[in-house]
Amino acid sequence: MKIRAVELFQVPPRWLFLKITTESGVEGWGEPILEGHADAVEACVKEFTPLLVGRSAGDIEDIWQMLYRGGFYRGGGVLTSALSGIEQALWDIKGKFHKLPVYEFLGGAVREKIQVYCGANTAQEILDRRAKGFRAIKMNAVAEYNWIDTYKKIDAVSRRVAEMREAVGYDVDIAMDVHGRMHKAMARVLMSEMEQYRLLFIEEPVLTENEEVFVELRKHGSTPLATGERNYTRWGFKNVIACGGIDIVQPDLSHAGGILEGKKIAAMAEAYDVAIAPHCPLGPIALAACLQLDFCTHNAFIQEQSLGLEYAGDAHEGMAYLKDVSSFACENGFVRRTNKPGLGIEIDEAVVRERAKQPHHWYTPQWRNEDGSVSEW
Ligand SMILES: [Mg+2]
Repeated sequence: MKIRAVELFQVPPRWLFLKITTESGVEGWGEPILEGHADAVEACVKEFTPLLVGRSAGDIEDIWQMLYRGGFYRGGGVLTSALSGIEQALWDIKGKFHKLPVYEFLGGAVREKIQVYCGANTAQEILDRRAKGFRAIKMNAVAEYNWIDTYKKIDAVSRRVAEMREAVGYDVDIAMDVHGRMHKAMARVLMSEMEQYRLLFIEEPVLTENEEVFVELRKHGSTPLATGERNYTRWGFKNVIACGGIDIVQPDLSHAGGILEGKKIAAMAEAYDVAIAPHCPLGPIALAACLQLDFCTHNAFIQEQSLGLEYAGDAHEGMAYLKDVSSFACENGFVRRTNKPGLGIEIDEAVVRERAKQPHHWYTPQWRNEDGSVSEW
C-alpha cells in the first residue's frame, strides 16, 4: 500500500483539504490547515510530498518522525499543520484498508458518545442552541483589549453572561474564550468577576506562552482554565501541562501533529490529572479526526465543533463536503460513536473539486486598539 499521490484543495470558508492516494487505490483525507496561512501550509505539504511518494502508507509513526525530525528545523504552526493533515490521511487509509475506525488502532473505544459544544454569544443564541439539542456553548469574552483596559468592557461581558445564565439556567453549560486578548492584570479581574457564574471553563485568558500567568490566575477564581490551540506537539504542551496552571488542554489535531500526537498529549495531560478537549473550529475532516481521538481517550470530556461559530460562515457549509452527515448528528448534546472505517466520513470529492476552483485566501482579521496600536485578534 504505497503512497502514489498527494493532492491539496483550498476550499471555503478558510480550509485546506488533502487527499493521499495509494497505489492499490485506497484513499485517505486530511485537513492540514492553519487558519490564515493556507498558502504556507500548502507549500509545506508540497515540500514534504517527494518524501512521501513510494513510502508504505501504514508506517504512520515512522513517517511522522521522518517529517518532524528529518527536516532539522521543527515545530511551529505551519510545519506541524502540514504534518497533521498528512498524519490524519494516513490514519484514514489504514482504517479503510483494515475496515476499522481509527480509534480501534489506538486502544479501542472508551465511550459510546461524546458531548459537543458550539458557539453562542447572546441569550437568544443560547436559547437557539438549546433548541437544537446542545447542552454546552462557548462565548467570546471581549473584542480588542489593551494592556490595561476599561472596566466597562468587563461589565459588558458580565452582563452578557448573566443574561445567558438567566435564559437557560444550568441546562446549558457556558464556556468562555478570551482568545489570548487580555494581559495578566485584566485577566485577573475577569477571573474573579466570572467566579459568580460558575463557567464550564475559561479559554486562553492570556496567551498560552505565559504559562506562569495561568498559575497566578488560579488564585483569583476556581473556574477551570483551558489552553492549547496554539501549542504544537507534545513538546509544545510539556511545560504548559507541568506548570500546574491549567485544567484542560485543547490541542488542535490539524495543528498539533495529528491524531496519534493528540493521543500522546492526552496521555501526558492525564498523568497530571488534566482533561483534554480538542480544539476544532475547522472543517469536517478535522472534526472527524477529533472524534476518533475522543472515542478512545479517557480524559476527553467535550468536543468543539464549528457549526454556529460566526467565523465559520454558513452553519451548514462544512457539511456540504460530506456524502453522509449522520456521523456528526447531535442528539441531546452528544455525538454518537461511529463504527465506519477510517475517519468515519465519506468526502464528496466532486464538491471539493468544484469549490477548490476559487482559492479562499482567508487572512486573519487585523485589529487595532482605540489608540491605533495592534491588538490580538
Ligand atoms: Mg479559542
